[in-house]
Amino acid sequence: MKPDIIVVGSGFGGSVLASRLVDAGMSVVVLERGPWRDTVAVRAGGIEKRKPLPRTGGMLSVLRSLRPPKGPKKGIRLNKYGYLEMWIGDGIKVPCTSNVGGGSHIWAALLERAPQGFWDDRATGLGDETLSPHYDRVERELKGIRPRDASTVPNHTDGAWSNESCFAPLGDGEQPLLGILFPGPDGNLAAITDESGIVREPLDFNRDNGMFGSPGASKSTVDALFLLPALGRGLTVRDMHEVRRVSAGKAGGWTVEARDLRSGRNVTLAAPKLAVCAGTMNTNALLLASRDTGGLTGLPALGKGLGANGDLIGKWPVEDRDTTIGPPSFGRVKIRGHEDSPYVILARGETPPLPGFLYNGARRKAGRSVEIVAMSQDAADGRIWSENGRIRFAFDLGGSPSYAATMQAMDAVSEASGRPVAYPNSEVLTAHPAGGCRISDDPNEGVVDGGGRAHDHPGLYVADASVFPQPVGVPPSLSIAAWSSHVADRIVRNH
Ligand SMILES: Cc1cc2nc3c(=O)[nH]c(=O)nc-3n(C[C@H](O)[C@H](O)[C@H](O)COP(=O)(O)OP(=O)(O)OC[C@H]3O[C@@H](n4cnc5c(N)ncnc54)[C@H](O)[C@@H]3O)c2cc1C
Repeated sequence: MKPDIIVVGSGFGGSVLASRLVDAGMSVVVLERGPWRDTVAVRAGGIEKRKPLPRTGGMLSVLRSLRPPKGPKKGIRLNKYGYLEMWIGDGIKVPCTSNVGGGSHIWAALLERAPQGFWDDRATGLGDETLSPHYDRVERELKGIRPRDASTVPNHTDGAWSNESCFAPLGDGEQPLLGILFPGPDGNLAAITDESGIVREPLDFNRDNGMFGSPGASKSTVDALFLLPALGRGLTVRDMHEVRRVSAGKAGGWTVEARDLRSGRNVTLAAPKLAVCAGTMNTNALLLASRDTGGLTGLPALGKGLGANGDLIGKWPVEDRDTTIGPPSFGRVKIRGHEDSPYVILARGETPPLPGFLYNGARRKAGRSVEIVAMSQDAADGRIWSENGRIRFAFDLGGSPSYAATMQAMDAVSEASGRPVAYPNSEVLTAHPAGGCRISDDPNEGVVDGGGRAHDHPGLYVADASVFPQPVGVPPSLSIAAWSSHVADRIVRNH
């Protein structure tokens, strides 16, 4: 039987959307190219086919695929169960994850709202007020909290970094919420079951729970918090299904062609509605490839306005502390003299997932520096396009005044601390790409309207950061989840 809607991708966008639509009584199939990951929550949820998070398997357990500007047009696949895909463009590199739960396994669980006014005057029927109840709801669902007592959280910026003269104090409410299950006052790390039946272990500050995932499920991930409960309400999730092409049916509706990566077979599904939530890079790539082969037409703004969220990562040596201890992100800081921009967080020293005999040395090395991760609203003047069947993309940080300001802020840290911050100054590595399917009432400027509907393609929706008319300049996932919740609302109203 045909589902009411097919959802491509199961990150923040896809999982929130699928869960909302199932709640509204729709039949929903999620197609996700990655596997379910073996976490305490997923195991307890009864999912049998699971693949481990990358822990000790070296780079091959990490790297799924490469999308270089040269070589095979569709990229190079190294390990179909791998965790990360690396997109390499002109002036920009983007890591994208491949999991049921998408980037919620890699994230540092910082929950931040978009700057005030971000959603206003973008399109009819959209504004901060429209999105506000959705932010409130997803913030609760992602279990955003402040640690009860930050002084008990190793390396937390609300205390542990206050003797650094380069940082200015944060105002009330400026420290973002964290989607993390912290241990209680007794420090007990035994698993607990929450009100929805999800099993999670509190965060062990001494173990790696950062970018290579959280085996105890102490980080909030959307596979556990949205998909597992929705399975019990009728949701179908087909993992290891990579969507290769989507096309509009002549009599309406959508056809989706996918590859079952386990069996190697091609699969075709159809539904009246389709939501593409494959993350900025893969959503643009899928829509461009589908247009190249006649599955879509028009969409003149597709690929315009690619931004990097002003991301700039600096490595800063530290003295007398171990940065491999604590939560995945230590929290927000403000750089003295640069308090208004960029938005800055400190991220733990990540130990690469190496075999045991190499691990300890790598961890000691990782613990001697901290990452200063800066974000800002860049000019979003990059683009993504298709050239003879190859997806190309480009972004020049020189076009964004916000990047020049961020580099000055990094230099201010070097100067005040006497310890130089090393950062790239000609190329961007961004964890937060945005744009290409921007929101606008004008089809020449944007791909979707204020309800996430693609222009001139009835039944096609987009729910991820590719719709952002400009980068949020802060951690974006809460905004992606809120947008997705809003789009679900519109789909249900029209259903
Ligand atoms: C190290 C790191 C730390 C981060 N920390 C934070 C943080 O603290 N706070 C924050 O807000 N954000 C953080 N982020 C960013 C966050 O991970 C992303 O914003 C978020 O995951 C994007 O959500 P999404 O739903 O748009 O896409 P994704 O989460 O990337 O989900 C897209 C899904 O679609 C699947 N997919 C792609 N193509 C196909 C296809 N053709 N067929 C089927 N499935 C497909 C992918 O496998 C993936 O699972 C971090 C990112 C990194 C790299």
